[in-house]
Amino acid sequence: MATLTRSLRHLTKLLPPPTPAPYTPKRHLGIPPAYLLDDYIPRYQLLTSIEASKKRSLAYAHLQNCNLCPRLCGVNRYHETGTCMIGAETAKVNVIAPHRGEEPCIQGYHGSGAVFFSGCNMRCVFCQNHDISHTLAGHDLTPSDLATWYLQLQNLGSVHNINLITPEHVVPQVALSILEARDMGLKIPIIYNTSSFDSLDSLHLMDGLVDIYLPDFKVWHASTAKRLLKAEEYVETAKESIKAMWAQVGDLCFTSDGIAQKGVLLRHLVMPGLEEEGKEIMRWLSREVSRDLYVHVMEQYRPDAYVGRKKRRVEGKEGEADGEREGKGEVRYKEINRAVREEEWGSVREAAVEAGLWRFCEVNEKGGFHL
Ligand code: SF4
Repeated sequence: MATLTRSLRHLTKLLPPPTPAPYTPKRHLGIPPAYLLDDYIPRYQLLTSIEASKKRSLAYAHLQNCNLCPRLCGVNRYHETGTCMIGAETAKVNVIAPHRGEEPCIQGYHGSGAVFFSGCNMRCVFCQNHDISHTLAGHDLTPSDLATWYLQLQNLGSVHNINLITPEHVVPQVALSILEARDMGLKIPIIYNTSSFDSLDSLHLMDGLVDIYLPDFKVWHASTAKRLLKAEEYVETAKESIKAMWAQVGDLCFTSDGIAQKGVLLRHLVMPGLEEEGKEIMRWLSREVSRDLYVHVMEQYRPDAYVGRKKRRVEGKEGEADGEREGKGEVRYKEINRAVREEEWGSVREAAVEAGLWRFCEVNEKGGFHL
C-alpha cells in the first residue's frame, strides 16, 4: 500500500497542475438551481421565418382595425387615431438610453436599454412618468428606426437587454421592430415593461418576441381603478394579462452573473392608505399565478401628476367628472397626497410572505440581492 501511495505521489508531480475551476458567481449570488440558466438564446432568435412572417402580417392587420388594448377603439390607424392618439407608421419615443434605474437583475452592470414610449392607454392620476406618458412629446420613429436604436444600445451601450417601457399602445410597431432587429443581429433579451392594461390579442402578438415581462399590478378594486387609473376594467384586464404573460415565459430565471434573461418580474407600488388592496394582490398572485413569482414590492410612491394639485372651479357643476369636488384650498386626490408609510409597505410585504411568495427583489442579509 505504501508503494502505491508513493507511486501516486510521484505520478501527481509529473502531471501538469490542475486547471483552476472557472469562476462561478452563482455560488456567491445564491441563485436557486431551478432559476439558473447556463446560457440563454432570446425567444425571437428561435422563431422560424414562417412564424416571423405570420407575426408581421398580424401586426399590420391589427393596425387596420385596432383593438389592441381594452379601449377597443376599432380604428384604422393608417387613417385615424384612437384614445392613445398614435397612428400606424411610427411610434412616438421620448427617450432612448442605457438606464440604471431598474432592478439590479435588469440593469445589471452596464444598464438596461430603455426605450420610453410617449403616450399611454391609461391615465393614472399619480403617474410617476407623467411628463412622458401623458404627453405626446418625442420623436416619431418607424420600426426600422427603432431596430437601429436597439442595435446601437446593444453594440455601443453594451446594455443587457432592450427595455420597452409603456409599449401597450404601440405593440404592432414594436413587434415589427424586434423582427427587423433580429435580422440585423440583435442578441439580447427583450423586456415588455407594462402597466398590465394589455389585451390577450396584443400579448399573443408578442408571444415569441418577448423574453421578460415586467408588469405592474396597481390596485385591486374596480372603484379604485376607476378613480385613480381612469380605467374601471383595469383589475380584470390585469389579472387576465398577467396570467397570459406567465403562461408564455414562466418564473424569472437568471444566468450565473445574476442578470435576468427570461420570465415574469412583477411590480406592485404600495399606495398610501391602499395597503389592503396590495395584500389582496399578493394573495391572488400566489394563488392564481405562481408561488415562485419574482415580486418587487415597491415603496417609492410619491405624489405626482394630478395628485396634490389645486382643485379646478367648474362653472355650474358641483364637482368634476371624476368625482373631485371643489373646495376652498382643497387639493385633488388628497387621500394619496403623501408618501407611503413604512408600516404600510411592511404589511403588504408580510401578507405576501403569508401567502407563500418568497422570491422578492430586495437586499439580502449579505448586502447582495435576492435572486
Ligand atoms: S392601442 Fe390605441 S387605438 Fe388601439 S385600442 Fe388601444 S387606445 Fe385604441
